[in-house]
Amino acid sequence: MSKRIPLIAGNWKMNKTASEAAELVTALRASVGSQSQVHIVLCPPFTALDRVGGLLGGGPMALGAQNLHEKPNGAFTGEVSASMLRDLHVTYVILGHSERRALFGETDAVVNRKVLAALDATLRPILCVGETLAEREAGRTLEVVGTQLEAGLAGVPAAKADQVVVAYEPVWAIGTGKTATPAMAQEVHAFIRARLGQLLGLETASRVRILYGGSMKPDNADALLAEADIDGGLIGGASLEAKSFTDLVNSAARSVTA
Ligand code: PEP
Repeated sequence: MSKRIPLIAGNWKMNKTASEAAELVTALRASVGSQSQVHIVLCPPFTALDRVGGLLGGGPMALGAQNLHEKPNGAFTGEVSASMLRDLHVTYVILGHSERRALFGETDAVVNRKVLAALDATLRPILCVGETLAEREAGRTLEVVGTQLEAGLAGVPAAKADQVVVAYEPVWAIGTGKTATPAMAQEVHAFIRARLGQLLGLETASRVRILYGGSMKPDNADALLAEADIDGGLIGGASLEAKSFTDLVNSAARSVTA
């Protein structure tokens, strides 16, 4: 059983208008709104943050964003800063998602600057790391994940290190229906925790939540969440429906008492 409070975060990606988002949040408030054993974070698109935040109020579900720009303000057409998110009561932000790395050219250096900007604005970064299928088949999984982790966390002040959440998301498992087996995922999670120990100190590393992401669904969640270093999930597809997301939150609650 994990010593950390599990966290289930929904990455809605570019799905849901503000009105559709409001419907989903209303359903989730009824189904998981009184959950106290699991931390829940909803990450709608920027355009729905204000509406979703208003519905969440000060309740147990937290608001997250899917990206930010590293600079505080200025001539960056189309971008959104950390302080703009903070002003909408956002408390978490997904950074370095593999879709941003692959489709929008985000390098480890860019991701690192975003992590530092988030922490500076008292936002909790959910730093995503993970290998492609080619990298796994070449036996490079731990090397790739270690490099992304170290580069992503460079310069993180010790006093803020426990605000970081890490998400291990094997790229080949995202949106594909292929999931890492619990043993495969645990191997990488244990490696991440050991590397966090070297980077941030053992005490901090023991408190950082490490989420698994990649086709996590109600039918595979119990087994993944039973692993010692899997502290929750970053959920894409299954976060778009109240029923499947609720089932995942309940699965995380069961992992506390198992
Ligand atoms: C994700 O994109 O972060 C993700 C885990 O997606 P899915 O659950 O759909 O694989």
